[in-house]
Amino acid sequence: MICGDIDFACTKCRLSKGRTQVVPGTGPCNSRIVFIGEAPGREEDLKGEPFVGRGGKLLDKVLEEAGSDRSEVFICNLVKCRPPNNRRPKKDEIEACSQFLKSELETVRPKVICALGQTVASNLLNRKGKMADLAKTSVSANVAGIRVKFFVAYHPAACLYQRKNIGSLKRSIQASLKAAKRKT
Ligand code: URA
Repeated sequence: MICGDIDFACTKCRLSKGRTQVVPGTGPCNSRIVFIGEAPGREEDLKGEPFVGRGGKLLDKVLEEAGSDRSEVFICNLVKCRPPNNRRPKKDEIEACSQFLKSELETVRPKVICALGQTVASNLLNRKGKMADLAKTSVSANVAGIRVKFFVAYHPAACLYQRKNIGSLKRSIQASLKAAKRKT
């Protein structure tokens, strides 16, 4: 489900030129937890939904193992259009897209945010750091004007290449889901 009355027809940055379609976040509009990825990849660009490729399948599996399901959580991305060759989104692209993430968060008003990967974590926390350190993060933070408990997990797609980090991804996702349950 796409939440709120957000007009995603945007041409504010160069990413709009290469997209097939915009990829808004999906999930229940009253979800207590929001997972935020970096940017749509090829499959997401084609389908118009976040995390439907290989990384998404791993995310689904980890959510399931943690006793949840993708239909119970809101999942979105830092930027809503696919960067060329799946490169990292640039600072100005993230800035141009921030109004959409803000609108999504203002609609869902989560209690917990779980940032997937270093780019997302360092941009939202405004803090640089090694992923190994960031992945231990659980802090109170203000994101787009909303006070949340903020967790950081390894990016599922990165875990497909560095399988040793899957354990850490699972722990972060479990911890963030547990925190979201506590905050009823
Ligand atoms: N990686 C992301 O960060 N987001 C997606 O939607 C897919 C892959």
